[in-house]
Amino acid sequence: MASNLHVKKGDTVEVISGKDKKAKGKVLKSLPKDGKVIVEGVNKMKKHTKGTQKDPKGGIIEKEAPIASSNVLLYCPSCKKGVRYGQKIEGDKKVRVCKKCGKEL
Ligand SMILES: [Zn+2]
Repeated sequence: MASNLHVKKGDTVEVISGKDKKAKGKVLKSLPKDGKVIVEGVNKMKKHTKGTQKDPKGGIIEKEAPIASSNVLLYCPSCKKGVRYGQKIEGDKKVRVCKKCGKEL
């Protein structure tokens, strides 16, 4: 699965701009084609749902909407903030390292 985004599903990221600036969350989904990501608890939109048999009235649910991937940075637990990272080769795999503290991310 090719992904050209700097963050991927399962990463913890920090939002660096927009209405949820400084929010932290897990990437629920990455959308490389759109250059967007869906981050847990970030950019929640209210959505009206139609009634179903179970819930005839319907209601309002809150759901995360995608945000531009350029608005998030990978979160470094050591620096306690979103950081840029570099890559290094370790054995036969690539690891991501924090550019600030050098910790593997
Ligand atoms: Zn760091």
